[in-house]
Amino acid sequence: MTWDYLIVGAGFAGAVLAERLASQCGATCLVIDRRPHLGGNAHDHYDAAGVLVHDYGPHYFRTNSDRIVEYLSQFTEWHAVEYKILSWTHGRFWQFPINLNTFEQLLGRPSTSEEMERTLAEWRVPIAEPHNSEEVIVSQVGTRLYEMFFQNYTRKQWRRDPRELDASVCGRIPIRLNRDDRYLSEKFQALPRDGYTAMFRKILAHPKIEVRLGTDYREVRAQLAHRHLIFTGPLDEYFEHRFGPLPYRSLRFEPETLAQEYFQPAMQVNYPNDHDFTRIVELKHATGQRLSVTTIVREYPEDFGPGKEPYYPIPAPEARALYQRYADLAAAEAGVSFVGRLATYRYYNMDQVVGMALAEFEKLRVPQT
Ligand code: FAD
Ligand code: UDP
Repeated sequence: MTWDYLIVGAGFAGAVLAERLASQCGATCLVIDRRPHLGGNAHDHYDAAGVLVHDYGPHYFRTNSDRIVEYLSQFTEWHAVEYKILSWTHGRFWQFPINLNTFEQLLGRPSTSEEMERTLAEWRVPIAEPHNSEEVIVSQVGTRLYEMFFQNYTRKQWRRDPRELDASVCGRIPIRLNRDDRYLSEKFQALPRDGYTAMFRKILAHPKIEVRLGTDYREVRAQLAHRHLIFTGPLDEYFEHRFGPLPYRSLRFEPETLAQEYFQPAMQVNYPNDHDFTRIVELKHATGQRLSVTTIVREYPEDFGPGKEPYYPIPAPEARALYQRYADLAAAEAGVSFVGRLATYRYYNMDQVVGMALAEFEKLRVPQT
Protein backbone atom coordinates (compact mmCIF):
# COMPACT_ATOMS: atom_id res chain seq x y z
CA MET A 1 0.00 0.00 0.00
CA THR A 2 0.96 3.65 -0.29
CA TRP A 3 0.88 5.49 3.02
CA ASP A 4 -0.24 9.10 3.04
CA TYR A 5 2.55 9.86 5.51
CA LEU A 6 5.70 8.01 6.44
CA ILE A 7 6.85 9.45 9.75
CA VAL A 8 10.40 8.79 10.91
CA GLY A 9 10.60 9.03 14.71
CA ALA A 10 8.06 8.18 17.43
CA GLY A 11 9.01 11.08 19.73
CA PHE A 12 6.90 14.18 20.32
CA ALA A 13 7.37 15.57 16.81
CA GLY A 14 6.43 12.36 14.99
CA ALA A 15 3.66 11.24 17.34
CA VAL A 16 1.84 14.59 17.42
CA LEU A 17 1.93 14.90 13.64
CA ALA A 18 0.67 11.32 13.17
CA GLU A 19 -2.18 11.93 15.60
CA ARG A 20 -3.24 15.22 13.99
CA LEU A 21 -3.03 13.96 10.42
CA ALA A 22 -4.88 10.72 11.21
CA SER A 23 -7.60 12.21 13.40
CA GLN A 24 -8.17 15.50 11.56
CA CYS A 25 -7.50 14.56 7.93
CA GLY A 26 -8.20 10.82 7.92
CA ALA A 27 -4.66 10.27 6.61
CA THR A 28 -2.93 6.90 6.86
CA CYS A 29 0.31 7.24 8.81
CA LEU A 30 3.15 4.79 9.26
CA VAL A 31 5.39 5.80 12.17
CA ILE A 32 8.78 4.09 12.36
CA ASP A 33 11.46 4.39 15.00
CA ARG A 34 14.79 2.65 15.13
CA ARG A 35 14.62 2.42 18.88
CA PRO A 36 12.53 -0.38 20.43
CA HIS A 37 10.09 1.96 22.18
CA LEU A 38 7.75 4.94 21.79
CA GLY A 39 8.37 8.47 23.03
CA GLY A 40 11.85 9.24 21.70
CA ASN A 41 13.94 10.84 24.43
CA ALA A 42 10.86 11.33 26.60
CA HIS A 43 10.42 7.56 26.99
CA ASP A 44 9.96 6.28 30.54
CA HIS A 45 9.32 2.90 32.14
CA TYR A 46 8.77 1.17 35.48
CA ASP A 47 12.03 -0.57 36.37
CA ALA A 48 12.38 -3.99 38.06
CA ALA A 49 11.86 -2.38 41.48
CA GLY A 50 8.65 -0.69 40.29
CA VAL A 51 10.12 2.81 40.19
CA LEU A 52 9.14 5.05 37.28
CA VAL A 53 12.36 6.12 35.55
CA HIS A 54 12.99 8.54 32.67
CA ASP A 55 15.35 6.56 30.46
CA TYR A 56 17.05 9.51 28.80
CA GLY A 57 17.50 12.05 31.57
CA PRO A 58 14.89 13.91 33.59
CA HIS A 59 12.00 15.19 31.49
CA TYR A 60 10.28 17.99 33.35
CA PHE A 61 7.25 19.04 31.35
CA ARG A 62 6.59 22.75 31.52
CA THR A 63 4.94 25.33 29.28
CA ASN A 64 3.35 28.74 29.13
CA SER A 65 1.02 27.63 26.32
CA ASP A 66 -2.60 26.83 27.24
CA ARG A 67 -3.08 25.44 23.75
CA ILE A 68 -0.34 22.84 24.23
CA VAL A 69 -1.65 21.79 27.65
CA GLU A 70 -5.14 21.49 26.19
CA TYR A 71 -3.87 19.42 23.28
CA LEU A 72 -1.86 16.96 25.41
CA SER A 73 -4.61 16.74 28.02
CA GLN A 74 -6.62 14.68 25.54
CA PHE A 75 -4.11 11.90 26.16
CA THR A 76 -3.16 12.21 29.79
CA GLU A 77 -4.11 13.39 33.25
CA TRP A 78 -1.43 15.46 34.99
CA HIS A 79 0.47 15.20 38.24
CA ALA A 80 1.36 18.77 39.28
CA VAL A 81 5.01 19.14 40.31
CA GLU A 82 7.18 22.05 41.35
CA TYR A 83 10.56 21.00 40.08
CA LYS A 84 13.06 21.69 42.84
CA ILE A 85 16.72 20.91 42.65
CA LEU A 86 19.91 21.52 44.61
CA SER A 87 23.51 22.05 43.68
CA TRP A 88 26.36 20.32 45.55
CA THR A 89 29.65 22.17 45.76
CA HIS A 90 32.21 23.26 48.36
CA GLY A 91 31.12 20.33 50.54
CA ARG A 92 27.44 21.24 50.90
CA PHE A 93 24.04 21.53 49.22
CA TRP A 94 23.05 24.91 47.81
CA GLN A 95 19.67 26.21 46.79
CA PHE A 96 19.62 26.37 43.01
CA PRO A 97 18.86 28.17 40.74
CA ILE A 98 20.44 31.17 42.45
CA ASN A 99 17.84 32.98 44.55
CA LEU A 100 17.65 34.88 47.84
CA ASN A 101 18.03 31.64 49.82
CA THR A 102 21.29 30.88 47.97
CA PHE A 103 22.52 34.39 48.73
CA GLU A 104 21.76 33.88 52.43
CA GLN A 105 23.64 30.58 52.38
CA LEU A 106 26.60 32.42 50.90
CA LEU A 107 26.46 35.17 53.55
CA GLY A 108 25.69 32.75 56.38
CA ARG A 109 22.92 35.02 57.69
CA PRO A 110 19.44 36.29 56.77
CA SER A 111 19.25 38.93 54.05
CA THR A 112 16.76 40.75 51.83
CA SER A 113 16.07 41.13 48.13
CA GLU A 114 17.29 44.74 48.41
CA GLU A 115 20.62 43.68 49.87
CA MET A 116 20.99 40.95 47.26
CA GLU A 117 20.32 43.45 44.48
CA ARG A 118 22.81 45.95 45.94
CA THR A 119 25.47 43.26 46.26
CA LEU A 120 24.93 41.80 42.81
CA ALA A 121 25.09 45.34 41.38
CA GLU A 122 28.68 45.44 42.71
CA TRP A 123 29.54 41.92 41.56
CA ARG A 124 28.10 42.12 38.07
CA VAL A 125 30.48 42.45 35.15
CA PRO A 126 29.00 45.23 33.02
CA ILE A 127 28.18 43.71 29.62
CA ALA A 128 25.42 45.46 27.71
CA GLU A 129 24.65 42.57 25.38
CA PRO A 130 25.89 39.13 26.50
CA HIS A 131 27.11 37.12 23.51
CA ASN A 132 27.94 33.82 25.15
CA SER A 133 27.18 31.63 28.17
CA GLU A 134 29.92 33.10 30.35
CA GLU A 135 28.85 36.66 29.66
CA VAL A 136 25.17 35.96 30.30
CA ILE A 137 25.94 34.73 33.83
CA VAL A 138 28.73 37.10 34.91
CA SER A 139 26.63 40.03 33.71
CA GLN A 140 23.88 38.93 36.12
CA VAL A 141 25.77 37.63 39.18
CA GLY A 142 29.51 38.21 38.72
CA THR A 143 32.40 35.76 38.51
CA ARG A 144 32.27 34.21 41.99
CA LEU A 145 28.81 32.65 41.57
CA TYR A 146 29.57 31.88 37.93
CA GLU A 147 32.63 29.89 38.96
CA MET A 148 30.79 28.13 41.77
CA PHE A 149 27.80 26.94 39.79
CA PHE A 150 28.23 27.34 36.03
CA GLN A 151 31.76 27.27 34.70
CA ASN A 152 32.74 23.67 35.42
CA TYR A 153 29.27 22.18 35.03
CA THR A 154 29.13 23.66 31.55
CA ARG A 155 32.65 22.47 30.65
CA LYS A 156 31.74 18.97 31.84
CA GLN A 157 28.39 18.92 30.05
CA TRP A 158 29.53 20.31 26.69
CA ARG A 159 33.30 19.80 26.77
CA ARG A 160 33.59 23.43 25.72
CA ASP A 161 34.23 26.62 27.56
CA PRO A 162 31.00 28.56 28.26
CA ARG A 163 32.49 31.37 26.13
CA GLU A 164 32.11 29.06 23.12
CA LEU A 165 28.39 28.46 23.71
CA ASP A 166 25.45 30.71 22.88
CA ALA A 167 24.14 32.88 25.72
CA SER A 168 20.89 30.88 25.54
CA VAL A 169 22.52 27.76 27.07
CA CYS A 170 23.33 29.08 30.55
CA GLY A 171 20.72 31.80 30.01
CA ARG A 172 18.06 29.07 30.35
CA ILE A 173 18.67 29.01 34.09
CA PRO A 174 16.70 31.68 35.96
CA ILE A 175 18.38 33.93 38.53
CA ARG A 176 16.02 35.40 41.10
CA LEU A 177 16.16 37.99 43.85
CA ASN A 178 13.20 36.46 45.71
CA ARG A 179 12.72 33.09 47.39
CA ASP A 180 11.19 31.37 44.37
CA ASP A 181 13.42 28.27 44.25
CA ARG A 182 11.67 26.41 41.43
CA TYR A 183 14.08 25.30 38.72
CA LEU A 184 11.74 26.47 35.99
CA SER A 185 9.56 29.54 35.59
CA GLU A 186 6.82 28.43 33.21
CA LYS A 187 3.25 28.68 34.51
CA PHE A 188 2.29 25.05 33.84
CA GLN A 189 4.62 22.46 35.41
CA ALA A 190 3.44 18.84 35.61
CA LEU A 191 4.25 15.29 34.62
CA PRO A 192 1.87 13.01 32.71
CA ARG A 193 0.17 11.18 35.59
CA ASP A 194 0.84 7.67 34.25
CA GLY A 195 4.11 8.55 32.56
CA TYR A 196 5.15 9.67 29.09
CA THR A 197 5.05 6.22 27.52
CA ALA A 198 1.41 5.74 28.52
CA MET A 199 0.64 9.15 27.02
CA PHE A 200 2.38 8.26 23.75
CA ARG A 201 0.42 5.01 23.54
CA LYS A 202 -2.79 7.05 23.62
CA ILE A 203 -1.52 9.67 21.16
CA LEU A 204 -0.71 6.91 18.68
CA ALA A 205 -3.79 4.74 19.32
CA HIS A 206 -5.70 5.96 16.25
CA PRO A 207 -6.73 3.16 13.82
CA LYS A 208 -5.20 5.02 10.86
CA ILE A 209 -1.78 4.97 12.55
CA GLU A 210 0.56 2.00 12.39
CA VAL A 211 3.77 1.99 14.43
CA ARG A 212 6.82 -0.14 13.62
CA LEU A 213 9.55 -0.02 16.22
CA GLY A 214 13.12 -1.25 15.77
CA THR A 215 12.89 -0.01 12.17
CA ASP A 216 15.59 2.21 10.72
CA TYR A 217 14.59 4.53 7.90
CA ARG A 218 17.93 4.02 6.18
CA GLU A 219 17.17 0.32 5.81
CA VAL A 220 13.52 0.49 4.76
CA ARG A 221 13.26 3.74 2.83
CA ALA A 222 13.04 2.06 -0.59
CA GLN A 223 10.29 -0.35 0.50
CA LEU A 224 7.76 1.99 2.04
CA ALA A 225 5.68 3.82 -0.56
CA HIS A 226 4.33 7.13 0.75
CA ARG A 227 3.01 10.46 -0.46
CA HIS A 228 4.83 12.64 2.04
CA LEU A 229 7.72 12.05 4.43
CA ILE A 230 7.98 13.56 7.91
CA PHE A 231 11.54 13.23 9.16
CA THR A 232 12.37 13.88 12.82
CA GLY A 233 15.86 12.30 12.95
CA PRO A 234 19.23 14.05 12.61
CA LEU A 235 19.29 16.33 9.58
CA ASP A 236 22.93 15.61 8.66
CA GLU A 237 22.20 11.88 8.66
CA TYR A 238 19.28 12.38 6.24
CA PHE A 239 21.67 14.03 3.78
CA GLU A 240 24.34 11.36 4.38
CA HIS A 241 26.65 13.87 6.07
CA ARG A 242 27.30 15.58 2.78
CA PHE A 243 28.93 18.61 4.41
CA GLY A 244 30.46 16.61 7.27
CA PRO A 245 28.81 15.62 10.56
CA LEU A 246 26.96 18.14 12.69
CA PRO A 247 28.33 18.19 16.25
CA TYR A 248 26.21 16.69 19.04
CA ARG A 249 26.75 15.97 22.71
CA SER A 250 25.90 12.56 24.07
CA LEU A 251 25.31 11.12 27.53
CA ARG A 252 25.55 7.90 29.48
CA PHE A 253 22.91 7.15 32.10
CA GLU A 254 23.74 4.92 35.05
CA PRO A 255 20.70 3.83 37.07
CA GLU A 256 21.05 2.32 40.53
CA THR A 257 18.27 0.91 42.72
CA LEU A 258 18.75 1.24 46.47
CA ALA A 259 16.94 -0.42 49.36
CA GLN A 260 16.00 2.85 51.03
CA GLU A 261 13.06 5.19 50.66
CA TYR A 262 15.06 8.18 49.38
CA PHE A 263 18.72 8.69 48.47
CA GLN A 264 19.03 12.48 48.33
CA PRO A 265 17.08 15.50 49.60
CA ALA A 266 15.72 16.63 46.20
CA MET A 267 14.68 15.14 42.88
CA GLN A 268 17.82 16.45 41.23
CA VAL A 269 21.24 17.37 42.58
CA ASN A 270 23.72 19.05 40.26
CA TYR A 271 27.46 18.50 40.70
CA PRO A 272 29.24 21.43 39.05
CA ASN A 273 32.66 20.83 40.60
CA ASP A 274 32.74 17.23 41.88
CA HIS A 275 32.64 13.88 40.05
CA ASP A 276 32.48 13.03 36.34
CA PHE A 277 28.68 13.06 36.30
CA THR A 278 26.73 16.31 36.07
CA ARG A 279 23.67 15.34 38.06
CA ILE A 280 21.89 12.65 40.02
CA VAL A 281 18.17 12.40 39.41
CA GLU A 282 15.79 10.73 41.85
CA LEU A 283 12.47 11.01 40.07
CA LYS A 284 10.46 9.59 42.97
CA HIS A 285 10.55 13.06 44.55
CA ALA A 286 8.61 14.34 41.55
CA THR A 287 6.27 11.44 40.83
CA GLY A 288 5.33 10.98 44.49
CA GLN A 289 5.51 7.18 44.17
CA ARG A 290 5.29 5.54 47.59
CA LEU A 291 7.82 2.73 47.68
CA SER A 292 10.35 1.49 50.22
CA VAL A 293 13.04 1.41 47.49
CA THR A 294 14.32 4.12 45.19
CA THR A 295 16.15 4.40 41.87
CA ILE A 296 18.65 7.13 41.11
CA VAL A 297 20.24 7.90 37.75
CA ARG A 298 23.72 9.40 37.38
CA GLU A 299 24.24 11.32 34.16
CA TYR A 300 27.68 11.32 32.50
CA PRO A 301 28.32 13.59 29.51
CA GLU A 302 30.05 11.83 26.62
CA ASP A 303 31.33 12.61 23.17
CA PHE A 304 29.00 11.67 20.34
CA GLY A 305 30.16 8.84 18.08
CA PRO A 306 29.24 5.41 16.73
CA GLY A 307 26.65 3.67 18.90
CA LYS A 308 25.86 6.87 20.82
CA GLU A 309 22.62 8.88 20.71
CA PRO A 310 22.84 12.53 19.56
CA TYR A 311 21.12 13.96 22.64
CA TYR A 312 22.03 17.61 22.32
CA PRO A 313 22.62 19.81 19.28
CA ILE A 314 25.42 22.24 20.16
CA PRO A 315 24.19 25.82 20.44
CA ALA A 316 27.29 27.53 19.09
CA PRO A 317 28.00 29.77 16.09
CA GLU A 318 30.08 27.37 13.97
CA ALA A 319 27.63 24.49 14.50
CA ARG A 320 24.78 26.75 13.45
CA ALA A 321 26.64 27.78 10.30
CA LEU A 322 27.06 24.13 9.31
CA TYR A 323 23.41 23.42 10.18
CA GLN A 324 22.38 26.29 7.90
CA ARG A 325 23.99 24.56 4.93
CA TYR A 326 21.90 21.46 5.66
CA ALA A 327 18.81 23.61 6.28
CA ASP A 328 19.21 25.05 2.77
CA LEU A 329 19.19 21.52 1.36
CA ALA A 330 16.14 20.69 3.49
CA ALA A 331 14.25 23.72 2.19
CA ALA A 332 14.78 22.51 -1.39
CA GLU A 333 13.74 18.89 -0.65
CA ALA A 334 10.27 18.31 -2.14
CA GLY A 335 7.72 16.15 -0.31
CA VAL A 336 9.53 16.12 3.04
CA SER A 337 8.88 17.97 6.32
CA PHE A 338 11.75 18.24 8.77
CA VAL A 339 10.39 18.63 12.29
CA GLY A 340 11.68 18.32 15.87
CA ARG A 341 14.84 18.82 17.87
CA LEU A 342 17.22 16.79 15.69
CA ALA A 343 15.83 17.64 12.26
CA THR A 344 15.94 21.38 12.96
CA TYR A 345 19.05 21.18 15.19
CA ARG A 346 17.48 23.15 18.02
CA TYR A 347 17.93 22.83 21.79
CA TYR A 348 14.15 22.67 22.20
CA ASN A 349 12.04 21.56 25.15
CA MET A 350 9.14 19.16 24.73
CA ASP A 351 6.46 21.85 24.61
CA GLN A 352 8.37 23.72 21.92
CA VAL A 353 8.54 20.55 19.84
CA VAL A 354 4.80 19.97 20.28
CA GLY A 355 4.25 23.57 19.17
CA MET A 356 6.47 23.02 16.13
CA ALA A 357 4.57 19.83 15.20
CA LEU A 358 1.18 21.54 15.55
CA ALA A 359 2.40 24.41 13.33
CA GLU A 360 3.63 21.93 10.71
CA PHE A 361 0.25 20.20 10.85
CA GLU A 362 -1.47 23.48 9.98
CA LYS A 363 0.71 23.69 6.87
CA LEU A 364 0.05 20.09 5.85
CA ARG A 365 -3.62 19.77 6.68
CA VAL A 366 -6.05 19.15 3.90
CA PRO A 367 -9.77 19.73 4.32
CA GLN A 368 -11.72 16.66 5.37
CA THR A 369 -13.77 15.27 2.48
P1 FAD B 1 13.26 12.69 19.75
O1 FAD B 1 12.58 12.49 21.04
O2 FAD B 1 14.75 12.61 19.71
O3 FAD B 1 12.65 11.67 18.70
C1 FAD B 1 13.25 11.42 17.45
C2 FAD B 1 13.15 9.93 17.20
O4 FAD B 1 13.58 9.67 15.85
C3 FAD B 1 14.05 9.12 18.12
O5 FAD B 1 13.27 8.22 18.90
C4 FAD B 1 14.96 8.38 17.16
O6 FAD B 1 15.24 7.04 17.57
C5 FAD B 1 14.17 8.41 15.86
N1 FAD B 1 15.05 8.30 14.68
C6 FAD B 1 16.10 9.07 14.36
N2 FAD B 1 16.65 8.66 13.19
C7 FAD B 1 15.90 7.59 12.77
C8 FAD B 1 15.97 6.71 11.65
N3 FAD B 1 16.91 6.84 10.70
N4 FAD B 1 15.05 5.74 11.54
C9 FAD B 1 14.08 5.57 12.51
N5 FAD B 1 13.98 6.36 13.59
C10 FAD B 1 14.88 7.37 13.71
N6 FAD B 1 12.54 18.75 27.43
C11 FAD B 1 11.73 19.31 28.36
O7 FAD B 1 10.72 19.93 28.00
N7 FAD B 1 11.98 19.18 29.71
C12 FAD B 1 13.06 18.50 30.16
O8 FAD B 1 13.27 18.40 31.37
C13 FAD B 1 13.94 17.91 29.21
N8 FAD B 1 15.02 17.23 29.62
C14 FAD B 1 15.84 16.64 28.71
C15 FAD B 1 16.93 15.91 29.16
C16 FAD B 1 17.76 15.28 28.27
C17 FAD B 1 18.95 14.51 28.76
C18 FAD B 1 17.51 15.39 26.87
C19 FAD B 1 18.40 14.71 25.87
C20 FAD B 1 16.43 16.12 26.40
C21 FAD B 1 15.58 16.76 27.31
N9 FAD B 1 14.48 17.48 26.89
C22 FAD B 1 13.64 18.06 27.83
C23 FAD B 1 14.17 17.68 25.47
C24 FAD B 1 13.19 16.65 24.92
O9 FAD B 1 13.77 15.37 25.00
C25 FAD B 1 12.90 17.00 23.46
O10 FAD B 1 12.42 18.32 23.32
C26 FAD B 1 11.87 16.09 22.79
O11 FAD B 1 11.90 14.78 23.27
C27 FAD B 1 12.17 16.12 21.31
O12 FAD B 1 11.24 15.34 20.60
P2 FAD B 1 11.56 14.99 19.08
O13 FAD B 1 10.41 14.20 18.59
O14 FAD B 1 11.97 16.20 18.33
O15 FAD B 1 12.91 14.10 19.12
N1 UDP C 1 24.10 24.74 33.94
C1 UDP C 1 25.16 24.96 34.79
N2 UDP C 1 25.05 24.57 36.10
C2 UDP C 1 23.95 23.96 36.59
C3 UDP C 1 22.87 23.73 35.73
C4 UDP C 1 22.97 24.12 34.40
O1 UDP C 1 26.20 25.49 34.37
O2 UDP C 1 23.92 23.62 37.79
C5 UDP C 1 24.22 25.15 32.53
C6 UDP C 1 24.82 24.03 31.67
O3 UDP C 1 25.57 24.62 30.64
C7 UDP C 1 23.58 23.35 31.14
C8 UDP C 1 22.66 24.55 30.89
O4 UDP C 1 22.94 25.43 32.00
O5 UDP C 1 23.85 22.64 29.96
C9 UDP C 1 21.19 24.23 30.84
O6 UDP C 1 20.84 23.50 32.01
P1 UDP C 1 19.54 22.57 32.05
O7 UDP C 1 19.45 21.99 33.41
O8 UDP C 1 18.38 23.31 31.52
O9 UDP C 1 19.99 21.46 31.00
P2 UDP C 1 19.27 20.17 30.38
O10 UDP C 1 18.27 19.67 31.38
O11 UDP C 1 18.69 20.62 29.07
O12 UDP C 1 20.42 19.25 30.21
